[in-house]
Amino acid sequence: MGLQSRSPQRPDDLVAEFEEAGPEQVAEAAGRARAAAGRWADASAVERASALQAAAEALAGAAGELTGLMVREVGKPVTEAGAEAARAVGIVRYYAQQALDPDGETYPGPSPAALLQSRRRPRGVAGLITPWNFPVAIPMWKAAPALAFGNAVLLKPSPEATGLALRLAELLGPALPDGLFQVLPGGADTGRAMLGQVDCLSFTGSVAVGRQVAVAATERGIPSQAEMGGLNASIVLPDADPERAAKVVAGAAMGYAGQKCTATSRVIVVGDPGPFTEALVASVQGLAVGDPASESTVVGPVITEPARDRVVEAAEEAAADGGRLLTGGKAGDGAGWFVAPTLVDGLSPDARLAQEEVFGPITVVLPVADEDEAVRVANGVRYGLVGSVFTRDLDRALRLAARLDTGMIRVNAPTSGVDYLAPFGGEKDSSFGPREQGKAAREFYTSTRTITILPAEG
Ligand code: NAD
Repeated sequence: MGLQSRSPQRPDDLVAEFEEAGPEQVAEAAGRARAAAGRWADASAVERASALQAAAEALAGAAGELTGLMVREVGKPVTEAGAEAARAVGIVRYYAQQALDPDGETYPGPSPAALLQSRRRPRGVAGLITPWNFPVAIPMWKAAPALAFGNAVLLKPSPEATGLALRLAELLGPALPDGLFQVLPGGADTGRAMLGQVDCLSFTGSVAVGRQVAVAATERGIPSQAEMGGLNASIVLPDADPERAAKVVAGAAMGYAGQKCTATSRVIVVGDPGPFTEALVASVQGLAVGDPASESTVVGPVITEPARDRVVEAAEEAAADGGRLLTGGKAGDGAGWFVAPTLVDGLSPDARLAQEEVFGPITVVLPVADEDEAVRVANGVRYGLVGSVFTRDLDRALRLAARLDTGMIRVNAPTSGVDYLAPFGGEKDSSFGPREQGKAAREFYTSTRTITILPAEG
């Protein structure tokens, strides 16, 4: 079946048109990937590292082009898109180095002459299913470690970001052996078909799909990891500078129209919410909304028409639930899936907006009396990706960090932002399986073999 991806700011701009990979194509690609994986696993670590270095250079050489395509295909503001392209290059360089790390450990054996060791070996063909919102960085933060540790990769990108995925395959092709990195365009059916062929499956996307993927992988007996949604809270303590905290929260809530799993969707204000809320409204109203190709734009369009409607409906429902619209709540005029950055207060922490991910530029302000209530509200959702705390008091920051049930905690920093050197992942419904990125990625893309060697005699 034919699929299309269109520019969210100019829906009449057709970016990519492609045939969905059917079961036969998927099986054929998996066969090529398996053959390539066998040869790649036999290659020396130095060979793998230099191929990845060449891949990183190919991406670096095309960073400007990838940035432009991100702006056009997924409506990412150009400044953020440029940073994402640079990050993808950094990620591939980083894992090129990790290919050279020790590949195992030795343990005390049964006698001094004996060797007891564990060694890492690749799983074979790694299947990747990715969303559209980080269309270059997410595929690369999965593919680079998979390749570095000796696997082949099949990437099933989001249909909304297929043009970018196909371009990535063209750019990486000359640096890597044939069949080692292949893209399978398509939607859910292609993803399911790929799941039936691979040796491990790494997913990023919504909770509903991530759960299905993890169940299907488990039924096949293959390892899976799933990075899913978030409903991230920033806690603002009374000693924080309201202006500064508001600026940071506004960017984390509304940057790229809130379409980040790490976006701030709840702000929990301890004590008098007045000064902070006022500063937040001013900061949000000061953000430049518009064409993502413009250097000054912070908030571009959302990805599709239904995504835009979801934000407007969430604002209407919040108002019907007794919430107060502090700013925004309306779709933009004209072409493109624009919606005004939206802030709501006056809702209970149990209201839908404070409980479920909308994945757009809408954030709820929740005043609380004290630190204990802040922790209860912050933890009172099914997600647990990232939390942040604004304070000048290190003791309070440490206390709160210890009590928040999220995979990542950031103090005086936006909830958004990823350090690829460190493990990335969440708690509760936000994540399943081992962490991604940093040194943690090896855990997923390799299995451990324990080897015992005794002297032949004696
Ligand atoms: P999505 O779950 O709709 O789609 C993700 C991918 O899964 C796409 O490639 C899609 O085609 C594929 N897919 C859909 N149904 C499938 C099925 N039944 N079997 C196999 N594959 C299937 O998510 P999306 O709309 O592309 O992305 C937005 C979501 O991603 C948000 O919930 C966001 O929070 C989450 N996200 C999480 C992280 C993280 O690291 N935690 C990062 C980015 C985005």
